[in-house]
Amino acid sequence: MGAQQVREGFVALYGAEPEGVWAAPGRVNLIGEHTDYNEGFVMPFALPHVTVAAVSRRTDGVLRLHSADVAGDAVELRVDELTPESDQGWTAYPAGVVWALREAGHTVTGADVHLASTVPAGAGLSSSAALEVVVALAMNELFGLGLRRWQLARLCQRAENVYVGAPTGIMDQTASACCEAGHALLLDTRDLSQRQIPFDLAAEGMRLLVVDTRVKHAHSDGEYGKRRADCEKGAALLGVDALRDIAYEELDAALERLGDEEEVRRLVRHVVTEDERVERVVSLLEAGDTRAIGPVLTEGHISLRDDFRISCPELDLVVDTAIASGALGARMTGGGFGGSAIVLAEEDDVQTITKAVEEAFAAAGFTAPRVFEAVPSAGARRLS
Ligand code: ADP
Ligand code: MG
Repeated sequence: MGAQQVREGFVALYGAEPEGVWAAPGRVNLIGEHTDYNEGFVMPFALPHVTVAAVSRRTDGVLRLHSADVAGDAVELRVDELTPESDQGWTAYPAGVVWALREAGHTVTGADVHLASTVPAGAGLSSSAALEVVVALAMNELFGLGLRRWQLARLCQRAENVYVGAPTGIMDQTASACCEAGHALLLDTRDLSQRQIPFDLAAEGMRLLVVDTRVKHAHSDGEYGKRRADCEKGAALLGVDALRDIAYEELDAALERLGDEEEVRRLVRHVVTEDERVERVVSLLEAGDTRAIGPVLTEGHISLRDDFRISCPELDLVVDTAIASGALGARMTGGGFGGSAIVLAEEDDVQTITKAVEEAFAAAGFTAPRVFEAVPSAGARRLS
């Protein structure tokens, strides 16, 4: 699915050429899970999978939205009537972006939008951020708003938190807006400072596989909220602004101070050790010791499974099977309770591992997983 196809879809729908076509990718998080709302470190990279949007300005206050991936006609809204949490459907994401821009004082007087995506929705690969960021970038350029990438990411997060009503961190939108090809993005979620870390696996004979388990266990939203609240409780009990402020060297002392708060202790241990794992992965990659990040990824999975307790049988089966079949490392990625896992492997082992995972899923009676290779790709951009 390319720019031309989406351009043609726009013309068929709205009867004129779009002013431009933009793309924004989905992402996977290499390491740094559930650290973003604790003001810690994350390290996503962009996928080759993108949401492509053809867009034209309007001056009459009308916002028309259409997705090739959703059945039905274009949805027509008025920009001056957009109201947070008024829309339960997919249009809340793009409408929320327009709302957030206008609420921040930017002039957006309407638009026609037609889009299509190759980012699997609901797989933990951030199709929602891709959708928000592509719309934000198009509006920024068409209306000459002059916003920086990180500012667009902020506004997209606000759209998702306030307009859609989903309490997510800043990672997804920043990844989609700011990643560079051949790199992972080290993001400090406290001050939003960024560093591009070279991550070109193919050049070193390795591959990173994404295994979409195609399950999403129903209780995941509630559990996310609970983890978040308990992390805040941990920070309050320890007298810090956020768990990011507990240094790895202070972890044992901090755990002791938490006494019999067993649940909070586990969560604190995950968050503090996970920030340390991000640091370790950065050091290894910068030293050119890429293979050595494998065991760090696997450690991260064990921490998410046993301490943070957000894995599920499907994700554990991917990780266990991949490791048993020779993977360098593997872990769940994203919010948990389903979604996707990542597997770092030597190029020569990819087929064996893929087959083993597929067979293990069949033997367990699980839905067949979707396995694909993730090449660290470019962030949001204009296509035509
Ligand atoms: P994820 O971001 O992990 O894919 P979310 O639940 O956050 O999962 O976002 C998925 C939602 O985003 C979909 O249910 C849909 O409302 C919206 N969405 C994503 N991509 C598209 C698309 N191409 N067309 C229409 N809606 C989309
Ligand atoms: Mg999402």
